[in-house]
Amino acid sequence: MTPPRLPLLIFGAVFAAALVLAALGYLSLRRWEQAAERQLREQARDAATMAAEKVEMAVVRAEQDGIADLQAVALDRGFGADAVAAWLRRNPLFDAAYLCARDGRVVYPARWSRAEGLVIAALRAEISQGFWDRGGRRHLDVDGRVVLATVLRGSRWGPLLAGLRRDDRTLGRDVVDRALAAPEGRSALVVVDASGRPVWTSRPLESAAPVITVPFGEALPAWRVALYEPAGLAPRDMVRRQAMSFMAAFALLLALIGTGLVATYRLQRRESEIARLKSDFVANVSHDLKTPLSLIRMFAETLEMDRVPDEARRREYYAVLTRESERLSRLIDNVLDFSRIESGRQRYDIGHGPVEPVVHEEIESFRHPLHQQGFAVDVSIAPDLPDVPLDAEALKQALANLLDNAMKYSGDQRKIAVSARREGGGVAVEVADEGIGIPISERERIFEKFYRIGRSETQGRRGSGVGLALVRHIVEAHGGRVTVDGGPGEGSRFTLHLPGA
Ligand code: ADP
Repeated sequence: MTPPRLPLLIFGAVFAAALVLAALGYLSLRRWEQAAERQLREQARDAATMAAEKVEMAVVRAEQDGIADLQAVALDRGFGADAVAAWLRRNPLFDAAYLCARDGRVVYPARWSRAEGLVIAALRAEISQGFWDRGGRRHLDVDGRVVLATVLRGSRWGPLLAGLRRDDRTLGRDVVDRALAAPEGRSALVVVDASGRPVWTSRPLESAAPVITVPFGEALPAWRVALYEPAGLAPRDMVRRQAMSFMAAFALLLALIGTGLVATYRLQRRESEIARLKSDFVANVSHDLKTPLSLIRMFAETLEMDRVPDEARRREYYAVLTRESERLSRLIDNVLDFSRIESGRQRYDIGHGPVEPVVHEEIESFRHPLHQQGFAVDVSIAPDLPDVPLDAEALKQALANLLDNAMKYSGDQRKIAVSARREGGGVAVEVADEGIGIPISERERIFEKFYRIGRSETQGRRGSGVGLALVRHIVEAHGGRVTVDGGPGEGSRFTLHLPGA
């Protein structure tokens, strides 16, 4: 069957539109992904920069306080080594102090080691004459430690160059701790010193990874502050996850659209096939009705006009009338029952009884056409069959359809075997012919309403395509099932499996 073009075009257009939509969605998702990642990074950078500024301000303030304290002490008349030692105790931010007078004399400490001598020398070398005059503060990196240089005024040695070595452990412990609060959410702030060791962390890092690192200013050279995010929460991961779920949703949507289209397309094909089958059905039924009717009319008219030569012929004509009217009523019964099944109104009157008389009666009612068409019928009914739940009229109708088909599709091999045997607690009734047979691929479909195997095979054979659908419905109403065996050219064997009580 060639599917109609228009629906195919429409489906194609919808699918293409869905694809374009998906492609656009994917592109804007990628763009959104990049923008979101950039934004999240910016936010992380802002948070880290703010933290760095806060720490730097706190350090500068702590240093200022310390220097102001030392300056106050230096103005004292009794300023000397003891006062500096006391100052160092009061200001744990500094762990060493070096004081030199402008003439080069080292005022504090009184004695120094070789290493300290190198610090003092470095301090002097770094400081220009202008610094003596202008004053101010400078952070010097001496041997990897920060030494704060400043000029104290008004001491009894005149201006003093002070080199104050900062204790970075105290810095981490006190100053940073006071300056920084833990950031909101699950991110962690980490302050790392020049050697890369974490000096301060807002929370245990565990599996967190750094997202962004920013340097401090001049007060904390080579120190950095880093923002860590727990594994999977880094901006890139979060954005990627969101993008993935969007993409999954998109894919799902596409799949849904695709499935919907395919399902609609199939449904539409099936509908048009049913429509075609229905119109075939109407044509076939009309044709089936017409043939016996014209026969009846013709023979009735002949009888009516008294043109029959002898009594034997007359009886033969009456027999034709009976046979054709039986066929007519069978056909009408089929159609009526089928319509009742379709509308859900079909009821069966299932009692309890033997199968044997039903089989015999039905074969008897076919005796004449079977004989006339030259069929040899072999009937074998096993003795002592159990009674089964049974609507005798319905079973007769099922058998009539099977016998009718056996005759229709027999070809030249005009042999039909009908048997009934015990099967489990029930009975299996078989109708077998030696006719054209049924391809394996069609075995299921022949029980569908209106279905008839490819026209070439059935061509010339009358039928409506509802006979086997009726048979199946009847057997299933009895709690049983119908099966078919035999391939093309091997004849067909239909078996009604009727369960026991
Ligand atoms: P129909 O009125 O066409 O006989 P049925 O529902 O009785 O409708 O059967 C459906 C189709 O199954 C038939 O058109 C025919 O192709 C196939 N069929 C049924 N019985 C036989 C059989 N005994 N041998 C071969 N083909 C059969």
